[in-house]
Amino acid sequence: MRIGFGYDSHRFANGDHLMIGGIKIPHGKGINAHSDGDVLLHALGDALLGAAALGDLGTYFPDTDPSYANIESSEIVRRIMNQLGNAAYTVGNVDATIIIERPRLAKYLKAMRIHIAELLEVSLQAVSVKVKTNEKMGWIGSEQGIAAHAAVLLITSSISPF
Ligand SMILES: [Zn+2]
Repeated sequence: MRIGFGYDSHRFANGDHLMIGGIKIPHGKGINAHSDGDVLLHALGDALLGAAALGDLGTYFPDTDPSYANIESSEIVRRIMNQLGNAAYTVGNVDATIIIERPRLAKYLKAMRIHIAELLEVSLQAVSVKVKTNEKMGWIGSEQGIAAHAAVLLITSSISPF
């Protein structure tokens, strides 16, 4: 078994929705990012790559490469999963925390878990997504942006694909 940890943050910008965990959330602001700015899937992607010691998102999807402009973060996670599959890893479980002052995300967490479970090909019970505010402190508390942390467990498949 191998453990991985990921962190990501994004700045709010003009817009009318947020993408978090693959779910579109109506909001009075958007995200300033190269892709869809999905902070949770980016943290998850870094955790998956980190667990396999395969580097980070920036290595595989550099924001200097125009071919990755506006790439869906779900597609990024799918490509990482392909790579992990080639390296004979499957996902054990995921635990993630989103830190955001507003909007309240509680009612979206189940949909995020379902989406992530599909991406990772695991059961819903293997995916935990939590949310908290930053108690109005600092840049998250003053609603300048959003952050997410993710931890994953990878399991080495007993059957080699080679
Ligand atoms: Zn990001």
